[in-house]
Amino acid sequence: MIEHPNDYQKQTGITAVYPPDRALEYLTLGLVGEAGEVANKLKKVIRGDYKNPKLASEIPEEVRDQIIDELGDVLWYVAQLTTVLDTRLSSCMEKNLVKLRRRQHQGTLKGDNRSEVVDLDKVKSLYQ
Ligand SMILES: [Mg+2]
Repeated sequence: MIEHPNDYQKQTGITAVYPPDRALEYLTLGLVGEAGEVANKLKKVIRGDYKNPKLASEIPEEVRDQIIDELGDVLWYVAQLTTVLDTRLSSCMEKNLVKLRRRQHQGTLKGDNRSEVVDLDKVKSLYQ
């Protein structure tokens, strides 16, 4: 069970097998490759391989599970990259939320404004 993102980050080290002197290249290529696997699964959904659902909730469970599996692979590479860059996964997550909140406050975050506003204090309290 994962209680904290940094616990997950630490545990990814157990299965990290790559040459240390090529870590950045290896991990970046891995991240892009796994993101491509997510995109490829969704491409097949859009192509109509499975009833052509319009909403994520309409994606067949088997395909949904495959996409979630690939997202886990993406997360593994993100966690390892944060390790190699000598930061914590939670710090990366928090900085991203702060950046997006700032852009939202400045009116430079594009979208339909229907998404829920992230309460940073609430998010941080989850990890304390
Ligand atoms: Mg994969």
